[in-house]
Amino acid sequence: MAIGKVYLVGAGPGDPELMTIKSKRLLMEADVVLFDRLLDPKALEGIKAELIDVGKNAGRHKLNQEGINQLLVKKAEEGNVVVRLKGGDPYLFGRGGEEAIACREKGIPFEVVPGVTSAIAAPELAGIPVTHRGVASSLTIVTGHEEPGKDTPLDWKAIASLGGTLVVLMGVSRLEQNINALIEAGKSPQTPAAMVEKGGWPEQRTITGTLANIAEKARSLKIESPAILIVGDVVRLEPILAHKKIAILRPEGQQAESARLAELYGFLAIMAPAIAIQEKALPGDLMERLNDAECVVFTSANGVKTALENKSLQSALAEKKIVAIGPKTELALAGYGLKSDVPLEYSSAGLETMLKGQCRRILFLRSAQGSQYLTEGLRAAGLQVDDIPLYEVVNSGDPRLDELIKRARSVDIFAFTSSSTARNLIERAKALGVESSLRQALRDATVAAIGKPTREELDRLGVRVDTMPEKFTFEAMLQALAKREQEPLE
Ligand code: SAH
Repeated sequence: MAIGKVYLVGAGPGDPELMTIKSKRLLMEADVVLFDRLLDPKALEGIKAELIDVGKNAGRHKLNQEGINQLLVKKAEEGNVVVRLKGGDPYLFGRGGEEAIACREKGIPFEVVPGVTSAIAAPELAGIPVTHRGVASSLTIVTGHEEPGKDTPLDWKAIASLGGTLVVLMGVSRLEQNINALIEAGKSPQTPAAMVEKGGWPEQRTITGTLANIAEKARSLKIESPAILIVGDVVRLEPILAHKKIAILRPEGQQAESARLAELYGFLAIMAPAIAIQEKALPGDLMERLNDAECVVFTSANGVKTALENKSLQSALAEKKIVAIGPKTELALAGYGLKSDVPLEYSSAGLETMLKGQCRRILFLRSAQGSQYLTEGLRAAGLQVDDIPLYEVVNSGDPRLDELIKRARSVDIFAFTSSSTARNLIERAKALGVESSLRQALRDATVAAIGKPTREELDRLGVRVDTMPEKFTFEAMLQALAKREQEPLE
């Protein structure tokens, strides 16, 4: 029978992209994979091996360490290539050493594959370098959860006197006791401290404070395991180096591109579509109404796409003066070979100035929920306005939106790209029974509105708006937000 082998493989802190190339290869080649609960399901996608969850829940062990050791040995003895996938690095508080010894004792070949440890990566991803020239030149990593009689007891006095950076793993359940031990051992209560929860996961959260108040903050904000505690002056770098998390609420079709742009501007994108686009049937008298108009206005790339699926519309439009609100709309029209003009200002006044003396009968082809603000102003100026709804904006019903709403307190920036994104976000929070916590999150975060109609809707909804770009594009909004971030720190 072929001989089996055990690979003790580090899976990194949780983001599957932070797994090593070697770990991915071994997962593909393995016959059996033993894994823990601290793993993104994506890490195991496409793997053909037998998957065994040996994850432990605090207090309720699914399989104890002895059981895991035995299972590893048994599977290898049966001739399998076994991957024992472990969070972070296998030999840092991962009991990987014990599993290796168990293999050694039974004569099973084994190999350890290092992983990115959360002890360094979680602070790092939260904007805290564990060492920094002139700030900290040593790093101490300890467990916050000693097992009496099993672990070598920690010498808190020595730890408190070390200086440098202290990282405490497994520190959630005994946070208060550990912090008290540090303070009693002489560490100043004013020492900066932070906790990073779920570093590298989409729901990553950071709280910062001092030794004196971090436990209280962690409790009130319900920080849960896995999380690490960081103590030391390096925590002061967090406001400078952390990437702000931006919630992207646009419809699915625009998510990927928007997230990429947001990341280009230095943000961490959370994709959470708040709205979806539902096309409407075009009215039977569309052609007559189009012929009647001197000028046709499109307000979004979505509108262009919906309308121009209709071929006869394409040729009829070629004869008209076309106005595009925003460069993306202009680009979409150009994609159909149609030339359009973009007003300098995206408001009724801007449109009026542009159309003055050129046309009196205007047709809008746009969303059913388009803002009345544009059309009313034009009617008041004596122009004849027709408005054909092309699509309806509906609630997305996307589970990612619900997730976002539940962890809204960890969002730094809400980017509203239309009045409907604002309305639907709040309506959904209401439906989930968490409107007040969402509103609190909106008060604590930076709120951006893409343009005036969106800002007005947010005003009506009682949401304070912090920034609005001069130009009506998502990218201009990101630029305005990035500029805000660069304002000098106090
Ligand atoms: N071998 C692992 C650590 C195992 S001990 C490693 O190298 O990362 C488990 C502890 O690691 C947790 O209690 C928590 O303190 C920390 N931890 C693991 N993953 C984490 C993550 N994504 N974010 C923050 N802390 C994490």
